[in-house]
Amino acid sequence: MSSPQRTIIVGAGHGGSQCAISLRSEGYEGQIVLVDEDEASLPYHKPPLSKKYLLSEDQKEMPLRPASAYEKASVERLQDTAINIDTATKTLTLSKTGEMTYTSLVLATGASNRVIPALTNIDNVHSIRTLQDTTSLRELALSANSVTILGGGFIGLEVAACFAGMGKKVRVLEASKRVLSRVVAPEVSDIVQRKLHELGITLELGAMAVEFNESANRLDSIQLDNGSIVDIELLVVGIGAIPNESLALSAGIHCDDGIVVDQSLKTSAADVFSLGDCCRFPHWQTQTTVRLESVQNAVDQSKQIAQQIATGVASDYKAVPWFWSDIGPLKLQIAGIYAGESQTVLRREDDKFALYHLQDQHVVCVETINNAKEHMLARKLIAAGVSITEDDILAGPERLKSVLEA
Ligand SMILES: Cc1cc2nc3c(=O)[nH]c(=O)nc-3n(C[C@H](O)[C@H](O)[C@H](O)COP(=O)(O)OP(=O)(O)OC[C@H]3O[C@@H](n4cnc5c(N)ncnc54)[C@H](O)[C@@H]3O)c2cc1C
Repeated sequence: MSSPQRTIIVGAGHGGSQCAISLRSEGYEGQIVLVDEDEASLPYHKPPLSKKYLLSEDQKEMPLRPASAYEKASVERLQDTAINIDTATKTLTLSKTGEMTYTSLVLATGASNRVIPALTNIDNVHSIRTLQDTTSLRELALSANSVTILGGGFIGLEVAACFAGMGKKVRVLEASKRVLSRVVAPEVSDIVQRKLHELGITLELGAMAVEFNESANRLDSIQLDNGSIVDIELLVVGIGAIPNESLALSAGIHCDDGIVVDQSLKTSAADVFSLGDCCRFPHWQTQTTVRLESVQNAVDQSKQIAQQIATGVASDYKAVPWFWSDIGPLKLQIAGIYAGESQTVLRREDDKFALYHLQDQHVVCVETINNAKEHMLARKLIAAGVSITEDDILAGPERLKSVLEA
């Protein structure tokens, strides 16, 4: 008789909780244990934390699914911290529950905000990762006149637009010469920058913070490398995230800016998988390994892992990546991966924008603004891998649809 199956999932964020539910819907009959150290009662949506939730007066929880969904799928939820993995005996140690053996282990530990050591535990310095972070930040912001954001990435700009909408005086400090420089093309940065100006936000580009002046546990000002001093009432730091890989690393699992997995999302340890923000995987589009921080990636990878554990059949992960961000009135969507080197074709219609990136006449990435229909079409074009020309793109979505259907 074979021993009973038990899958333990560490991390009940977007990926981990989806993995638990998908395991059961894929027909897995073993025990499913979903562990998370977060105090929140149910796994919840993260994207609204820097968007509408920050603006909302009524800060209700935003569960990904009701408690009954976990009960129905017989998912055992534990509020606990995973502190050790013994990959030889397949044993996970939790700080409160103690040791638990597994037949499969899924590491879905997510990422943590990058911190500036000089700014830890300072009263008027905040960042957003959890529901609690947003609740505290909103509380402080209500009584502030001005807010400074360090970092012009997605989260920083979303927060900046929210605070401008609340009537605050907002300033963004960004070290690069343009916002979102690592993730979007210059044309998109340009549109976003113009919108931020329209919203009354002060944008300081090429502004490297070199000194933080603090007194009585409060940040008074930041000195920039050009010598200017920015006075601070409330600072939000949004300078990227680092993968939560220490649990894997101390177990001897191969990590390299993320828990390294193969095409079928297996780590270097037997029966241990990883997904989402914490994992680095070989990407079918770029032919390199990447780490993607997006809901789509976490959810699609979790479904793939669940299917493999339930059926015992390995398969390669090959989803089209996509992402969205709401910066004030701009809905920015990206399908595929922006890798810099490509032929670009731009199409604009009224306030709708689409920037296609082509390599060898194949679409590899499309960045759209306020253009959800074309974003959906872009995902299909990338997945199908059809050959298209600049003329096809300039002729508009109907022509692209016909290329897809031909
Ligand atoms: C403010 C904000 C806005 C965002 N906006 C967008 C957006 O607009 N669009 C988009 O696509 N993506 C967005 N993202 C990114 C998206 O939320 C993440 O990519 C997604 O949550 C990743 O899912 P995950 O399951 O990998 O990790 P997470 O959802 O982060 O979950 C990881 C969980 O693991 C738990 N954990 C970690 N270590 C342990 C341990 N040792 N023991 C127990 N539990 C542990 C953590 O408590 C956490 O709950 C945003 C993220 C944030 C923070």
